[in-house]
Amino acid sequence: MQYREVGDTGIKVSTLGHGTMRYKDNDNAIEMINHGLSLGMTYFDIGGAYGFRGDDDNGETRVGAALKGIDRSTVVLSAKAQPRLGDNAKVDMGLGVNTRDQMWKCIENGLRRTGVEYFDFYQLWDMSCADDFQAGCRESDSPLQAMREAKEQGLIRELGLTSHNPLPDMVIDWLDRTPDFKIATLYYNFNDRSPDKVLNYAREHGVGTVIMGPLRGGLLVGESEAFNDALPELAGLPVQEIALRFLLSNPGVSTVISGMNEIAHMDENAQVASLAEPMTPDQRARFIAAFEQFSQGEPLCSGCRYCAGSCPQGLPVWSMMGYYQLASIFGVDSGKLEVAKMYGAEKGPQICTECGSCVEKCPQKLPIPEYMKRMANLAEELAGQ
Ligand code: SF4
Ligand code: SF4
Repeated sequence: MQYREVGDTGIKVSTLGHGTMRYKDNDNAIEMINHGLSLGMTYFDIGGAYGFRGDDDNGETRVGAALKGIDRSTVVLSAKAQPRLGDNAKVDMGLGVNTRDQMWKCIENGLRRTGVEYFDFYQLWDMSCADDFQAGCRESDSPLQAMREAKEQGLIRELGLTSHNPLPDMVIDWLDRTPDFKIATLYYNFNDRSPDKVLNYAREHGVGTVIMGPLRGGLLVGESEAFNDALPELAGLPVQEIALRFLLSNPGVSTVISGMNEIAHMDENAQVASLAEPMTPDQRARFIAAFEQFSQGEPLCSGCRYCAGSCPQGLPVWSMMGYYQLASIFGVDSGKLEVAKMYGAEKGPQICTECGSCVEKCPQKLPIPEYMKRMANLAEELAGQ
């Protein structure tokens, strides 16, 4: 296992971390966590809301039970709670909080349930829009205020945020306005590269980054002839390994978390995370350059989601574009399956009216209506196979 420092915090973590949200049950959690520890994995991303069934059975108690008796200094624990405006807080789950007191309760719950005296990191979870920043970080009576107080009391070592919504400029603005955020957990993979900008910013400013969604929710699997051509010396490797190698070859990435609930998957990922150089700089450069060739000069969708919610027809444009790209450009089998499912679907590409609303939102002005036509043709072709 390789280890990296999280930004300039001095805290080292394994480059493969535990995403603790997908365990099948408590026994599976204990089995996976113990196996991970035996492989040298040290970073734990914990959420009280994960599989929440009550105060004594949730994501925090599950990790706590598995870590019982472990030397606390050998693991790095990162907990979190979600800020939201409004009056719908579910404090016991760490969801929708927006006051200092609510966040204090989340922190105390988390420490008690996990059975530890401090968290290495505490993150504002799932920050997706300006309202979330307002809910979490406004100047007074805010969740951030509680996090800072807990840090002063030694209950938290460092603060940060997580964002599933990769609006890079917004995340950079949040990090800029909150210099005590020392860790950012971001959704990023080779097909959704808009957070590149945030990774660069974070690296320059001593902020560590944790990558979630390394396999786009399990979609970046199978084989790709395009990748075999781009990196002949790695030909035959499954797409999931190439995806992980690509992430770990970015020096700005501190650790990659994946929600593993099978021993074999963990072993495979740990093997990649043990490589001193998962992709050489030359291989990485050739891999990225090959994207241009695959796309035949057309700009790639970065998965930035600026187009989300823009379609009057209700089409989930960004996710469809992502699938189409995976299928048509990268030649990834799982992308082809997803495009095939679009054939004849109620919300399929054939209902695009070419209104252009999505294009207006797209920073790259991608010709999305044209892609929708091609997507419809490809869906028909693939569905017929
Ligand atoms: S151009 Fe098509 S996909 Fe884009 S917003 Fe209009 S109907 Fe939706
Ligand atoms: S289509 Fe454009 S706006 Fe939508 S996710 Fe892709 S790059 Fe972003």
